[in-house]
Amino acid sequence: MNSIKKPGVNTVCTHVGEIEDKQFKGAISPLYMSSSYAYENVDIKRYPRYFNTPNQEALCKKIAMLEHAERGLIFGSGMAAVSTTMLAFLDKGDHVVLPKTLYGGTYNFVTEEFEKFGIEYTFAQGFSEKDFRNAIKQNTKVIYVETPSNPLMLITDLKMIARIAKEHGLVTMIDNTFASPINQTPLDFGIDISIHSATKYMGGHSDICAGAVAASEEHIQKIWHKAKNLGGSLSDYTVWLLERSMKTLALRVKAHNKNARKMAKWLDKHPLVARVYYPGLPSHPDHELAKKQMRGFTGMLSFELIDSVDAGAFMNALQLVKQSMSLAGVESTILSPAKTSHALLSAEEREKQGILDGLLRFSVGIEDKDDLIADFEQAFDAVGKEQLQKLLS
Ligand code: PLP
Repeated sequence: MNSIKKPGVNTVCTHVGEIEDKQFKGAISPLYMSSSYAYENVDIKRYPRYFNTPNQEALCKKIAMLEHAERGLIFGSGMAAVSTTMLAFLDKGDHVVLPKTLYGGTYNFVTEEFEKFGIEYTFAQGFSEKDFRNAIKQNTKVIYVETPSNPLMLITDLKMIARIAKEHGLVTMIDNTFASPINQTPLDFGIDISIHSATKYMGGHSDICAGAVAASEEHIQKIWHKAKNLGGSLSDYTVWLLERSMKTLALRVKAHNKNARKMAKWLDKHPLVARVYYPGLPSHPDHELAKKQMRGFTGMLSFELIDSVDAGAFMNALQLVKQSMSLAGVESTILSPAKTSHALLSAEEREKQGILDGLLRFSVGIEDKDDLIADFEQAFDAVGKEQLQKLLS
């Protein structure tokens, strides 16, 4: 590895950070499950909740390199990463600006917990420079964004956010979960801290719950200090599994990107589909911006069925694509945002945000594209044959 000056992304995924098995010369990192380490005559006092066991440190190197960051840190869940990072930079009396559409767990964390910490917040009214500038106050310390957004896949201009933050001396954070570091490296655009629910693309097989953060050494030190106090560390067995998953991250994400692009195009032409939200489609309002800051457009897309097709019945008719809450696994999954992530909003607020009952969020897996299309075709046939005949006659 040392002989390669600038490893490609697949080499980074496969090898960076790996622990050499000096004892048995095995090909992969050994797993160190110890939760107790020597404290005399050692360089580092290691402990799982100090986030510095051998396997934790090894995986953090891979994540840092993928995010073009100096350092990484891994957590027991995406929410542990989000909450610890925010609390590391927000004290009593501080203010944070966030986007209006936010992952539900992050929204709940902010709206249910911040008041008791004495932290203020404002949701920007939209995604424009003016919207973010208008939300900044005298005591603002952090701008937090999520791009692409869930579920409409709207794109926030990362350079614009970094520029505003610099003018005001603010720290910027992004939830980079939907993009993954394969498609988007926000630090290249001046964002300070990139956060992931590693439960999603990084894990990629719907069997791991984890979180990750990548940033400069200085910022990670600050987050690490808070992390030790809050205690959201990840078990070493899961760290080891996540390292294994991440060996195929670039391969998987590229396959997700390719399938999603094809499915988006196919759905866009389907008479029973009213609208497709995918930043890789030229018709998406943020396509040009997405092209500037993303290398691929992810495996996530949303689409709206025409009014006369029942979204629930359509999902029930799917046989290969599963109805499931999470996302970014190798298997394709689908859900209704109105019934899940946005169920707590009033119908009026959902409509205002463009989240209609017929909107479905599709996490496109790595199955063969023709099989996905066949499944969609049979489901459309099962629930929309009449509508289709009417439209075509
Ligand atoms: N951020 C995004 C965009 C998510 O979709 C999720 C989970 O769905 C999270 C953060 C929280 O991650 P976790 O469930 O791993 O705590």
